[in-house]
Amino acid sequence: MRILMIAPPGAGKGTQGALIAAHFNIPHIATGGLLRDHVERQTPLGLAVQEYLDRGELVPDQIVLDMVREAMIAAKAAGGGYVLDGIPRNMAQARAAYEIGLELGMTADVALHLQADDAELTRRLMARAALEHRSDDTPEVIAQRLALYYDVTAPILAWYRDRGILVSVDAMRSADEVGREILVALEAMRPFLEHVPGQERFVLDLTSLGEAFGATGSAASASE
Ligand code: ADP
Repeated sequence: MRILMIAPPGAGKGTQGALIAAHFNIPHIATGGLLRDHVERQTPLGLAVQEYLDRGELVPDQIVLDMVREAMIAAKAAGGGYVLDGIPRNMAQARAAYEIGLELGMTADVALHLQADDAELTRRLMARAALEHRSDDTPEVIAQRLALYYDVTAPILAWYRDRGILVSVDAMRSADEVGREILVALEAMRPFLEHVPGQERFVLDLTSLGEAFGATGSAASASE
């Protein structure tokens, strides 16, 4: 199973990425976590990226891509599956990640998109700020990260839709409910993924199922 996740900050990429990784026994490659780890250990890379993280800006593409290439090579040695969380964040990264995938014979099977509206995302990020003290969970930096998501990250969804690998899920529910829906969808797709090339697949939009699965708000009306 090779999955990449695209979602605004606060939608639950980290939580769902960890769940998927545990379920399929594949590595969870989370760029934000890897970068924060470098900052914490004050490595040269950490010192170089700290300001970008604090300001809620994207760190230079090449830094993230080098880090991800290394993690993908390790994932290949570990069996070839992965969950990418936090990359791609712009079109250049999407193309570069695809190139790395082609080169290693492990392009993504599924682009998993988690949808939630801004009010809910901001609420979750502020709640997390009280617990985790991440330097980028302040109201100003949260607004900056959300704006950046709509400007440069959300537009790449169309590219995955065209490639036939986009799966959209309504993330306006509890982590348990969202997680269950994701695993059900991925398990249902699994036999199919091995036999049907991406271009011949149908895009899966599960966001309208939200209500049936107990959604409390309408992510379907959230702008992309
Ligand atoms: P969130 O999705 O909540 O913003 P992440 O942990 O994914 O959290 O990312 C935190 C920060 O790490 C980003 O604001 C950015 O500065 C940096 N970052 C993570 N992934 C990338 C990436 N692919 N390209 C550039 N910067 C990144």
